[in-house]
Parts: sequence; structure tokens; C-alpha cells
Amino acid sequence: MSPSVTPSPSLSPSPSAPRPVTVVTGGSRGIGAAIALRLAADGHDLVLGYAGNARAAEETAGAVRAAGARCAAVRADIADETAVELLFDTAEAELGPVTGLVNNAGVTGRIGPLAETDTETLRRVLEVNVLGYLLCCRRAARDMSARGSGAIVNISSAAATLGSPGEYVHYAAAKAAVDAMTVGLAKELGPSGVRVNAVAPGVINTEIHAAMGDPGRPARVARRVPLGRPGEPAEVAGAVSWLLSSDASYTTGTVVRIAGGR
Ligand code: NAP
Repeated sequence: MSPSVTPSPSLSPSPSAPRPVTVVTGGSRGIGAAIALRLAADGHDLVLGYAGNARAAEETAGAVRAAGARCAAVRADIADETAVELLFDTAEAELGPVTGLVNNAGVTGRIGPLAETDTETLRRVLEVNVLGYLLCCRRAARDMSARGSGAIVNISSAAATLGSPGEYVHYAAAKAAVDAMTVGLAKELGPSGVRVNAVAPGVINTEIHAAMGDPGRPARVARRVPLGRPGEPAEVAGAVSWLLSSDASYTTGTVVRIAGGR
């Protein structure tokens, strides 16, 4: 599927003062959509990347615009270099220089032990969660370091430290790579004025669990969570907004865990 840009006829309001321009990958649904809505409320203009669900993307983009932000939605598979370039080019052309990136789009593949996981699934999970994050980080690093400012937030997972035995060790490994790229890039880009952090959610109520073939997973896993329940996407969004804000101006290279104590 080739990348495409969903027309964004109502890019209002026109900014009188510079507003942050933030790219949220996987902004159509789940945690990404909650982040987009929170960032819109906190004064960001937004470009939402998505994989294929144009209806969900336009619905979220409409809610973002209703909150007073400018917003475009771009279909862009983050594992595809050309699509990632289009995502950032569109953001820049429609909204101006990108000041923030939320690397959020992710997939787990079907739940199960590694011995039963096919190679195609392993490849895709690594392509999206590792290569895709790196492609987005690389473009942001080039643009932001040239301007001497910017902030990146990578959405990792508590799986990175729990290991997820019997569920998706490959996904946990990919998210551990996200933590490593966060620490390394923070050091690499700090001298250029660019901050890089991560947020590691625990089990959060989104459609990702049904997509992995286990819609009952949040309720089941909640028994092992000290706070006794799954999280909601909005409970992740506030930390992302803070990490992008000037309140976090001395925070870089950190992973903020939002996992109910797990
Ligand atoms: P979700 O509800 O399944 O939504 C996934 C989002 O990513 C959708 O917007 C989807 O677009 C997009 N997407 C998927 N593959 C993509 C690709 N190759 N290129 C571009 N966009 C792609 O997932 P979620 O639960 O909100 O998860 C968001 C992030 O949080 C992921 O990185 C996930 O690993 C992480 N996370 C989730 C949980 C949890 O319990 N939910 C816990 C820890 C970490 P379409 O709408 O077009 O399909």
C-alpha cells in the first residue's frame, strides 16, 4: 500500500503565536489518539500517522481540530522509509517545522510462546517497533538538530523489562531496543539541544489486545498489577505531554514507567 495524505481542509486556526508542531505515529487509535487529544488541549498542532484505518484517523483528527488545533492525517507505514519521509514532509509543508515526535505506532503480532511464532511475525514486529522507530527518530534528529531544538518521546513498554514470557518475547525485545535507542540518542542529540525520552506503559485498555488474539488480556493481567486494574490511554498521555513541554527542559534519556506499579 503506497503512502497517502488524507486531505485536511480545515487546518484552522491559523497560528498567531508559534505553536509546537508534533508528529504522532499511530495517532488514529488507542494510546496515540489519547496522546493527540491531550497534546491538542495543551496547545500543539498535530500530524497523525496511521497504517490503514483512515476512518479512525479522520475521526481522531476531527476531534483534535474541534479542540482548536490544526491537524493533518497521513497514512504512513513507519517501517517504510519513503512513507516516513512523506509523513514529515507533509507535517512541515502543512503545519511548519516539526518540534516534537511521539514514536507511538507499534504491533505485537499474535500472542504465544516464541517456539510457536512464525518468522514473518518476528520480522514485522522488529520492522515496525525497531526499524520504524529508528527511521522516525533519524528524520527528527536531522531536522531538529539542524534547528538546535526539539523533543522526541518513544513509546516503549513495561514488556521491555518484564520479558513477556509465553506472550511475546520478540515484542519485549523490540521494546528493550526502544529503551536503548532512547538512552543513546539522548546522549547523541543532547549537545544539539534535542531531548529524547521514553514512556513505558503497562497493560492499557486498547484494541491491541484483540489484535493479538486475546481481548481478555487486560482484565486477566490486571490481577498481577499492584493498582489492580488496567490503565486507560489518557493515563499515558499526560506524561508524554509533560516530556514534550518546557517543564521537562532538563529531562532527557529517561524512561517513565506507567504500569500501575508492575
Ligand atoms: P493500537 O490500539 O493497536 O493502535 C495502534 C496504532 O498504531 C494505530 O493508530 C495503528 O494505525 C498504528 N500502526 C500500527 N502499525 C503501524 C505501522 N506499521 N505504521 C504506522 N502506524 C501503525 O495500539 P496501542 O495499544 O494504542 O499501542 C500504542 C503503542 O503503545 C505501541 O507502541 C504499543 O506497543 C505500546 N504499548 C501498548 C500497551 C497496551 O497495553 N495497549 C502497553 C505497552 C505499550 P491504524 O489505526 O491505521 O491501524
